[in-house]
Amino acid sequence: MQGDQDVAKPERQTPRYWRIGFVGCSVIIVFLVGLLAIATLAVYRSPYYRSVINCNRRIESAGAALDRYAIKNDAYPESLMGLAPDYLPADELYCPLVTDHSAAYSYFRPAVDTPDGAVVLECNRHRMKSNVPPIIIRYLKRRE
Ligand SMILES: [Zn+2]
Repeated sequence: MQGDQDVAKPERQTPRYWRIGFVGCSVIIVFLVGLLAIATLAVYRSPYYRSVINCNRRIESAGAALDRYAIKNDAYPESLMGLAPDYLPADELYCPLVTDHSAAYSYFRPAVDTPDGAVVLECNRHRMKSNVPPIIIRYLKRRE
């Protein structure tokens, strides 16, 4: 019996170190994943990110309305206001940051034969900080 314990002791110590290392790594990993989740949530809840998401959604629906207009009329409208109210409510022609409706999206009227990928609508009002260049949200002409 005595001999068995002496022999078993060194064999037990090696797995114990492994277990401490494993638990330590797990705690660190869980901590880092938690930090990442908090950081991700903070970004998703920020007014900047939400305005970008809302603007992107709005510019997509305005672009889709332009495409419907072009299919029906064989030309794009002279101005964005030509879409309202038949193709889109007038409110949808403005970036969510332009609450006073002073300026609609920048509109680059394409010809029907303008190649795909040309910029049709653009918004450059979204900046994370005042000293950082704004991100530009665009709607590109696509195949009908
Ligand atoms: Zn915008």
